[in-house]
Amino acid sequence: MSDFSLTLNEDQLQIQKWIHDFAETVVRPAAEEWDEREEFPWPIVEEAAKIGLYSFDFIAQAMLGDSTALTMPLALEELFWGDAGIGLAIFGSSLAAAGIAGNGTTEQMLEWVPQCYGTPEKVALGAFCVSEPDAGSDVSSLRTRAVYNEAKDEWTLNGTKAWITNGGIADIHVVVATVDPELKGRGQASFVIPPNTPGLSMGQKYKKHGIRASHTSEVVLDDVKIPGSCLLGTKEALDEKLARAREAAKNPEVRSGKQPAMATFEATRPAVGAQAVGVARAAYEYALQYAQERHAFGKPIIMNQSIAFMLADMATQIEAARLMVWRAAWLSRNGGGYKNGEGSMSKLMAGRTAVWVTERAIQILGGYGYTREYPVERWHRDAKIFDIFEGTEQIQQLVISRAISGLRVE
Ligand SMILES: Cc1cc2nc3c(=O)[nH]c(=O)nc-3n(C[C@H](O)[C@H](O)[C@H](O)COP(=O)(O)OP(=O)(O)OC[C@H]3O[C@@H](n4cnc5c(N)ncnc54)[C@H](O)[C@@H]3O)c2cc1C
Repeated sequence: MSDFSLTLNEDQLQIQKWIHDFAETVVRPAAEEWDEREEFPWPIVEEAAKIGLYSFDFIAQAMLGDSTALTMPLALEELFWGDAGIGLAIFGSSLAAAGIAGNGTTEQMLEWVPQCYGTPEKVALGAFCVSEPDAGSDVSSLRTRAVYNEAKDEWTLNGTKAWITNGGIADIHVVVATVDPELKGRGQASFVIPPNTPGLSMGQKYKKHGIRASHTSEVVLDDVKIPGSCLLGTKEALDEKLARAREAAKNPEVRSGKQPAMATFEATRPAVGAQAVGVARAAYEYALQYAQERHAFGKPIIMNQSIAFMLADMATQIEAARLMVWRAAWLSRNGGGYKNGEGSMSKLMAGRTAVWVTERAIQILGGYGYTREYPVERWHRDAKIFDIFEGTEQIQQLVISRAISGLRVE
């Protein structure tokens, strides 16, 4: 337990500077190229692995070794300040790592999470596969099916996953599948699909509006067979959970345990908020400098209140979003969870801030802002993803309204 404090410790300040330097000297100069190429930026991820930023050790230290839980948001803000597409290429494996850590045993975590990163000599990737063509927000309606063969102690998975970051190019795929369709979300479990498992393949690769350096694809599971040990958590724990869920279906007073995908999202929402703050800050800083240098009617455009006040509002909004992200991150470790949907509030606020601030930055740059010669149009395209993935704007509102009212708002 640590007190909530906004004073960063020495380690955090060092990490913040270390990642900022990497973002400034390696990530940002490469951003335009990889956005245009719309390909996974392997050389940049390899650079990140060489300095230890893309590694199991860094993630373990940032996620688990910090009682304030502020290191992760700090790191992500700096990385995504550099570029959101490359940032997600570097951070995407952590979604799989969070899926393993949130649902697996300690042994499973130690076995599989390092394999999501590989080594600086041979970089590996992880992917977290929940969404499906017909089930994005409605995670309880997953159709991907996992069937257990007791005699062989083996699971067989079939289905198609949609919109998967690192999908099909990852070494480790963490897949959420239904084991009992009647129980909807309560009948799901998470599985690790080891590298080179037959039956797993990449479907279509999506052409995206923004974060184009991040790879997003369908993942097709066609009779994928994995040993019983690839179920995250134990079979006994799953059987108990399913029995509770069946009981709860008959008797609503019985609690039926957490949904695997939801457990992962709860942990990652402030982290996504921090990414959004990074993009917003990049656009704000750029617009602030531009407004001081660009002259119109014989004076810098910032000397007009309409421009200066826009920048004042942008700065204020970013501060507010960052504070909400930090508090939600701290609460996730120290406050016994979110009582009023603070994790969702932080992501909602930060996502909207990123979209609004990047749009205002285009406005401040005028015609130049609308061209690809300047980075603000890219930041605006990138920012929109924060209203969509890891729970859309409306799904965050749903979580918050249920938390504050105690009612099952639909
Ligand atoms: C670039 C990118 C990367 C992604 N990476 C991953 C990944 O790595 N792993 C993964 O599993 N998924 C990933 N996703 C999927 C993402 O989480 C989903 O796209 C998102 O959850 C929304 O689902 P959907 O696209 O099916 O939209 P839908 O659920 O069909 O929603 C469409 C619209 O309806 C609204 N809506 C839906 N239900 C309600 C409701 N009950 N009340 C009010 N409004 C509602 C939504 O807010 C939205 O505006 C990624 C998506 C993108 C675009």
